[in-house]
Amino acid sequence: MRLKDKVALITGAGRGIGEVTAYKFAREGARVVVADIDIESAEKVAEQVRELGQEALALTADVTKTESVNKMMDKIIDHFGKLDCLINNAGITADAQLLKMTEEQFDKVIAVNLKGVYICGQAAAKVMATQENGGVILNASSLVGIYGNFGQTNYAATKFAAVGMAKTWAKELGKKKIRVNAVAPGFILTPMTKKMPEKVLEMMKDKSPLKRLGTPEDVANLYAFLASDEASFITGTVISVDGAVVL
Ligand code: NAP
Repeated sequence: MRLKDKVALITGAGRGIGEVTAYKFAREGARVVVADIDIESAEKVAEQVRELGQEALALTADVTKTESVNKMMDKIIDHFGKLDCLINNAGITADAQLLKMTEEQFDKVIAVNLKGVYICGQAAAKVMATQENGGVILNASSLVGIYGNFGQTNYAATKFAAVGMAKTWAKELGKKKIRVNAVAPGFILTPMTKKMPEKVLEMMKDKSPLKRLGTPEDVANLYAFLASDEASFITGTVISVDGAVVL
């Protein structure tokens, strides 16, 4: 088991990639904090983690609110006494072409995907910096955070920022034994991509040399590797899991 006895916090883990990552981490021996803005979905996922034989804590947290995140962090430390890994997974979209995008759409996505990553990253780093073994922070970027994407000014800005913050924190926190990386998934079948037109998804499938879309498991496997000690010399980078869709 790669993550035996580690404590991992996954934001936005009530569904999609975060949910599947919670199960993967449990199977690898981690104790999992399932955090989501929606406590009911977090509870359901935590229950499934327990059925896999691992300890789980379901917590509600809105990543855009410092107070909410600090409360969550206090509960984690009260319960587990440490935090080994944060996956900054919570994310949203509100797509529109630049000429039609509203300020509200822009601000909403920035708040969750960018400010949320900063708030959670800072809160986790404060804990990890006091730990003998430091910790690992993984930011959810995207293919869109490397290449941009039509109709996603707001989302692209946040996903480039997720990479920028990962590289900056890797430089700042390395001396505290904290590794920080970003993960850039391509088109992964989750509730987020189910909102996209079928035609676009078919096109993306066809563009990949592997002729398929990604699964949440594909991303969860990368998170598990990066969170493990096998990745102990990997920091400050962004790794794609996209089936070479843009090659
Ligand atoms: P998803 O299915 O939409 O799940 C996102 C989760 O985040 C939901 O459970 C959502 O809760 C939660 N959330 C939203 N706002 C939140 C907030 N303010 N505080 C806490 N939790 C919040 O998304 P996904 O497809 O699994 O994507 C996960 C991450 O991977 C995102 O950062 C996304 O940008 C990134 N990503 C996904 C893909 C893809 O193809 N799916 C590709 C590249 C990158 P509610 O359900 O209650 O809103």
